[in-house]
Amino acid sequence: MTARLDFGGVELTRIVEAEGPLLRPAEIFPDSTPEAIQANLDWLAPRFYDPVSDRLVISIQSFLLKSHGRLILVDTCVGDCKARVRADFDQQHWGWLDRLEATGVRPEDIDVVVSTHLHVDHVGWHTRRVDGAWVPTFPNARYLFTHEEWAYWKEHEGHPGLVRTGDYVGDSVLPVFEAGLADLVDMDHRIDEAIRLVPAPGHTPGHVAVEIQGERQRVLLTGDAFHHPLQCCYPQWSTRFCADPDHARRTRQSLLEACANDGTLVLPAHFPAPTAGHIRRAAPEDEHEFRFEFQELL
Ligand SMILES: [Zn+2]
Repeated sequence: MTARLDFGGVELTRIVEAEGPLLRPAEIFPDSTPEAIQANLDWLAPRFYDPVSDRLVISIQSFLLKSHGRLILVDTCVGDCKARVRADFDQQHWGWLDRLEATGVRPEDIDVVVSTHLHVDHVGWHTRRVDGAWVPTFPNARYLFTHEEWAYWKEHEGHPGLVRTGDYVGDSVLPVFEAGLADLVDMDHRIDEAIRLVPAPGHTPGHVAVEIQGERQRVLLTGDAFHHPLQCCYPQWSTRFCADPDHARRTRQSLLEACANDGTLVLPAHFPAPTAGHIRRAAPEDEHEFRFEFQELL
């Protein structure tokens, strides 16, 4: 049974597609060093890093929000049955949709789909295959995309990100536009009285976080501003997949400054269970300025 967090007026459920050792540190963080991994091994292994395969433990997941009677889905993972260049993502059958339905939610119940950005592991279940065609999985939803993000991806043929991955925009995003279910919104768009988008550019130009102002708790879903808790210790580590690594770095640093010790519960898209935690400013004698303190909530 998936745990449900209640922030006061807004509930959150993690819907996990896959979680496990996925990427070698050097494969995702060009600035990482084996020495840095070794220096943090006491808290990294085995939960957040698998020393045997030298891979970071990554979760691919969605956040299902119930807010003021509406269902909002933030990001939709890699998806099933999709042709992808990366073998880990190619023609998979993870059963994410079954796990969503096991929470009592049918695809037609979803009201809003938010994409923090348009990378392959965030839009997969935007569509599913029916009678040989890719159709929107959530037929009654409005799918929100930021103007800046869509401007970056819409000329998708030949886009370097798609050459690397396979044309997921063609099978997972375009059908949503063709079905008339897409809304282009500003990067600070308000979804309802409790939930709004927050600009967090750099990883991609239109990348956004999602802020939840619950009656009891402020929450920030930070998307891919962080991929791994190591980036709280090493904020300068941007990923090989960042469109603008310097901008991503500045965004990450300002999120760390803003959330440190202010009580905000932070849920980065790819942190493994329990995913949620607080950013803490470390003690002066600590080598790092910030660290991520997981909350065993989910
Ligand atoms: Zn991602």
